[in-house]
Amino acid sequence: MSDDAREITCQEHGAATTTYVCSHLATNPVQRWHSARASGDNPWPDAWCNACNATFLREGEWNDRNADAVDLRILCNHCYEGASAKSIARFDAAQSKAWQELLSHCHEELSVKQEALKREYSLTRHKRWDWDQDRAELVFSNDGIPAVVATIEFVGSVSTQSNTWLWSWANPSTEESVRSRIVAVYEFGEAHDYPRLTVPKWPAEEANGWDMAAVAAHVLDAAGVYRTPSETGFTFLLLTEVRTAQ
Ligand SMILES: [Zn+2]
Ligand SMILES: [Zn+2]
Repeated sequence: MSDDAREITCQEHGAATTTYVCSHLATNPVQRWHSARASGDNPWPDAWCNACNATFLREGEWNDRNADAVDLRILCNHCYEGASAKSIARFDAAQSKAWQELLSHCHEELSVKQEALKREYSLTRHKRWDWDQDRAELVFSNDGIPAVVATIEFVGSVSTQSNTWLWSWANPSTEESVRSRIVAVYEFGEAHDYPRLTVPKWPAEEANGWDMAAVAAHVLDAAGVYRTPSETGFTFLLLTEVRTAQ
């Protein structure tokens, strides 16, 4: 399909891109969304609800035998993002409790790791840091002399302009070299049905970034987390291995 064929004019958002969701999600987005994992190339994959997923699972794919059973609706890409972000509010009390318990466990675990990093490498005392996405490294240095080198994986970023969280696996400006392992966190979210781990972008502030980084550090058993500020917000990095520079 050419890009032209996906153009749409939304009454609310103007010129936009066509996306498809099942009629149930279009009517009530506050439920589980099933889709392929979003990516830089395909940020708004076709999505369907639990009921439609039973039809999907009968074939394990959409094909001639089951595709007609799903009533697809067109949304503009902005409407799609807004609707999918709403789905993070769908927890019942039990799910909410499990999620909160996971977050507190991950934060406790992370604070022990952060203390250890501070003790061993004094990360906050170095004059500057630079990341190299190709080498997947974060280098702390003083006056041009590297002091500590960390292997990194990007978790995601909080935009203080749009007040949203965006996972690195859905961010086209993040290199593949620093976002291949983070997919395990998405898969953990799919397995346990934690929508904040699987919805690419949702309303957030800095504290939500720390939550996601803490969960990612837990799932990937990282040494710690580093938060880098920018003019538009914060990027959260996992430090998967840390060593003193030679
Ligand atoms: Zn449906
Ligand atoms: Zn729209």
